[in-house]
Amino acid sequence: MKNNITNNSLCSGCGICSAVCPKDCIKTEENDIGELRPVVNENLCVDCGKCKTVCPFENRMEKYIAPTGNCFIGRAPGFSENASSGGIATYILSKMLTENTVDYIVSVKQGNGSDNLFEYCICETTDELLSCQGSAYYPVTLCSIIKKVKNIEGNVAIIGVPCFVSAINNLRKQSAFWNEKIPYLIGIVCGHTPSKLLVDVLAWKSGHKREDIKSCKFRIKDGSRPAWDYGVRLDFSDKTHITSFGSEDFGFLFWRKLFSQTSCNNCYDVFADDADITFMDAWLDEYKEKNEGTSLVICRNAKIEEWLQKLVDGGYAVEADISKAEMAQKELIEYKKSGGENHKSQEKLKEKIVKCCIDNKEDKNISEKIKRICYKENLKSTNVFLWLLMEIKDRICGK
Ligand SMILES: Cc1cc2nc3c(=O)[nH]c(=O)nc-3n(C[C@H](O)[C@H](O)[C@H](O)COP(=O)(O)OP(=O)(O)OC[C@H]3O[C@@H](n4cnc5c(N)ncnc54)[C@H](O)[C@@H]3O)c2cc1C
Ligand code: SF4
Ligand code: SF4
Ligand code: SF4
Repeated sequence: MKNNITNNSLCSGCGICSAVCPKDCIKTEENDIGELRPVVNENLCVDCGKCKTVCPFENRMEKYIAPTGNCFIGRAPGFSENASSGGIATYILSKMLTENTVDYIVSVKQGNGSDNLFEYCICETTDELLSCQGSAYYPVTLCSIIKKVKNIEGNVAIIGVPCFVSAINNLRKQSAFWNEKIPYLIGIVCGHTPSKLLVDVLAWKSGHKREDIKSCKFRIKDGSRPAWDYGVRLDFSDKTHITSFGSEDFGFLFWRKLFSQTSCNNCYDVFADDADITFMDAWLDEYKEKNEGTSLVICRNAKIEEWLQKLVDGGYAVEADISKAEMAQKELIEYKKSGGENHKSQEKLKEKIVKCCIDNKEDKNISEKIKRICYKENLKSTNVFLWLLMEIKDRICGK
């Protein structure tokens, strides 16, 4: 691409650049490490630079901003069973539809096919919203759906991670059309979005290939485990399935951000301040050990707050000081505050893991190999002598 936007490693594949391209020459494709990235038809590109004007990483927040808004903690009856946290996100989205605040909700559902396990969709009913519950720890893009939104009659609310919310807000600031079309932005706190390799590795470990995956559900709840020990379930076309939880391989691969996108290691936005409401987990001592999951919500919109107040009146939620949001996201805030420069070692580790995945595609022992890389990396800083011995041994064995 002439204006270099796609060469920028700081991209999360939101696809909003495609909405402003006058030549309609941007599409989003998966790259060779399982991330979604914009691809520009250079024959059509006129180098106008419009795509850069909406990109959250070209117009990005340079430091962490403390949360603003009113804070609520609780669960939504009828919405929490299959939810990631307490289901308040789906409760609010459903209210927005049923009380005609917007005509449609753009949210994320299970996708079609093993290359596309999750995708954005346009919801018109509460049932459709209920089928979207859970968290897609998987790359998604607004690239094609934003074109549908452009032509749809009526207005929409869009739910997204902070960088997506920021991109859509940039789009709204540029044009009255988009401002009217998307009157509400719904944010979700985001620690990182892993590449598709995370799911691939779990499939390979169970003796399957990516093509064998029929569906994937993150944030499955097991009544015997605390809320923080959530899991993922993969169903395969041979009618078998696997589950993996936070205290197992899934947690090892996900929480260590081993497949994190470079943009996520350079992201300062925790609370999606451009959103009317932001949802997250109540990772607080009094809630995280409970097994059912609890939502923490920051609301910045008076109309939406009325629906939260109904949960409070019903005894399902409580109002809390905004400092609870910072307490719940303490570790994430520290990570994001410390800035990209401090995550260089994480980036190097990720490079090694990704190379290992490429070299050991579909290998059943992949997670052991990844764990060994992490172990060695840790030794480098704790016991350099032992690390050297392992390194020499590996080189002799050609590992
Ligand atoms: C990639 C990612 C990272 C996250 N990291 C954190 C974190 O570090 N700390 C934390 O407290 N919370 C995090 N969350 C938010 C958390 O997982 C829950 O989504 C949130 O608490 C809402 O739960 P709920 O029960 O209210 O929502 P539910 O009722 O389960 O509804 C979830 C809604 O989110 C939508 N959704 C799911 N995945 C995506 C996606 N990728 N992009 C846009 N919309 C999506 C669904 O379509 C659905 O509408 C993350 C979410 C994602 C997707
Ligand atoms: S520079 Fe202009 S024409 Fe080229 S991809 Fe970006 S928006 Fe489209
Ligand atoms: S607007 Fe989104 S998809 Fe386009 S370059 Fe920026 S982050 Fe990537
Ligand atoms: S961590 Fe930041 S850059 Fe990465 S997906 Fe989440 S909001 Fe976007």
